[in-house]
Amino acid sequence: MPIQNADLHCHSIVSDGTLTPEELAARAAANGVQLWSLTDHDEIGGQQRAAAAARALGLKYLTGVEISVTFADETVHVIGLGFDEQDAQLREGLAATRGGRGARARDIAAGLAAVGIADAYEGALKYARNQELVSRTHFARFLVETGVCRDTGEVFRRYLVEGKPGFVPHRWATLKDAVRWITQAGGVAVIAHPARYRLSANEEYALFTDFKAHGGRGVEVVTGSHTPSEYVTYAETAREFGLAASRGSDFHSPGESHTDLGQLPFLHGALTPVWELVADRVR
Ligand code: AMP
Ligand code: MN
Ligand code: MN
Ligand code: MN
Repeated sequence: MPIQNADLHCHSIVSDGTLTPEELAARAAANGVQLWSLTDHDEIGGQQRAAAAARALGLKYLTGVEISVTFADETVHVIGLGFDEQDAQLREGLAATRGGRGARARDIAAGLAAVGIADAYEGALKYARNQELVSRTHFARFLVETGVCRDTGEVFRRYLVEGKPGFVPHRWATLKDAVRWITQAGGVAVIAHPARYRLSANEEYALFTDFKAHGGRGVEVVTGSHTPSEYVTYAETAREFGLAASRGSDFHSPGESHTDLGQLPFLHGALTPVWELVADRVR
């Protein structure tokens, strides 16, 4: 039986999720997921726990990560799947990508302090179980806790996106490096949730063209960040650029995420599933 219920995108407490790798594995299995990957932001510290938990549940597993990239002045996310987690260059690249987060978090807090929100650095850090990975999500949780906003979506809209007081421009990894780290470690690189980026049509074309040229091989088509009409748009992009298609919920937290693990529609049968490209890496 070919795999249909693959969920190859979600986050644990190792980045900005609220569940442990073990809790996510159990939730994926309970929701009927057949092939799973934990893809924490810029960090693979949860991989051994995720793989072990999946094995204990009889759930197939691919190593995973979601790398933050700067392309055309926009932050773009590149998913890596099926890589060797011991690969030294990948580990160094991820450490370097994580490296700027501490100073950025202090700048975010300074921006918030300027509009009267005190102690946000300490507040966000309290939510970050991995102190190397303070993310905007942790600030959002703090601002909900303190009653500044009703939910994290409102925090992003009012405080954390470009033009707002807590937004800090940041240089992440280059597209070329991120794709290279993943592919040289034996994995496959996938553009995450392409509909989310504020890129012009020309910039998006350049993104996929450059991504292919660097060795990238997949695009997320069915994700919690896309509408059904965007599934169609990016299925067409996959066909146009000769990319395989991925499926993943981008689940972060039971209280926050609209899309649970394993609940999205399956990929259209005409697409090549990205997991077929790394079938030999499935554990
Ligand atoms: P960072 O890597 O610190 O820039 O944080 C990015 C994370 O913030 C994403 O991975 C999402 O989890 C979260 N995020 C981004 N935009 C939004 C939004 N509009 N609403 C809720 N969460 C968001
Ligand atoms: Mn996130
Ligand atoms: Mn993302
Ligand atoms: Mn994600």
